[in-house]
Amino acid sequence: MLELDYGSATSAGAVRDLNEDAAVALANIFAVADGLGGHAAGEIASGFAVTHLGKLAGRDDLHSDEIQAAIAETNAAILASSARHGEQVGMGTTVAGLAVIRVGGTEHWLAFNIGDSRIYRYADQQLIQLSVDHSEVAELMALGRITPAQARSHPMRNVVTRSLGTDPAPTPDLWVFPPSSGDRFLLCSDGLTLELEDAEICAILAAQPRPQEAADRLVERAVGAGGRDNVTAIVIDLAVWGQTDVVDARTAPRVRPSGG
Ligand code: MN
Repeated sequence: MLELDYGSATSAGAVRDLNEDAAVALANIFAVADGLGGHAAGEIASGFAVTHLGKLAGRDDLHSDEIQAAIAETNAAILASSARHGEQVGMGTTVAGLAVIRVGGTEHWLAFNIGDSRIYRYADQQLIQLSVDHSEVAELMALGRITPAQARSHPMRNVVTRSLGTDPAPTPDLWVFPPSSGDRFLLCSDGLTLELEDAEICAILAAQPRPQEAADRLVERAVGAGGRDNVTAIVIDLAVWGQTDVVDARTAPRVRPSGG
């Protein structure tokens, strides 16, 4: 198995009473879910996502179709629950995550996304967003109608164009890529990026070599900067590059340089 070091943190923020975000960070499966819907229903929806994905934790032979099945089960569970409980009608959740899967016998990252929670890769002091937001403002930006700066304060910034809890079921973005030395990833709900600019996120990731502390600082800083929404962050490091079986039998395990 890839040797990973990771940490996660979440907060209701400084304004809201409830935390409708949920997170799972377990061995080989990492995901952030941002629940949508009032009266605590969002919390139920995001909870379904992390429960279904969490069932895959610890498996060293995961395949892409099992992640897709867990996402489909989440969608079905949300619909079934809201059909039984009137106050849950319309609830939903985003989900953005990474899993370690097997492709042709070797371990790869599988990234998956529905909605506007985000997957970033941090390397060489740079933060690159890997996921594409499914949101009104992302579509307006793609059309060149608004700038990224305008998107941050846009009245439609909370409107997602794809989420779990819909019929027909949404199609997730899914993509596979190989692990590489020094990989550091950030998964987060929109409450983080609402409060912190990329440069601030980069500075925290650069200053915190340990993933748990990085996640704690990110959430703390976002809450301190306003905390207008629930905030969740997961930081994942590929601690040791020790895949000796297939990719390169001569590659000895190497420790990731400290300091991010
Ligand atoms: Mn949110």
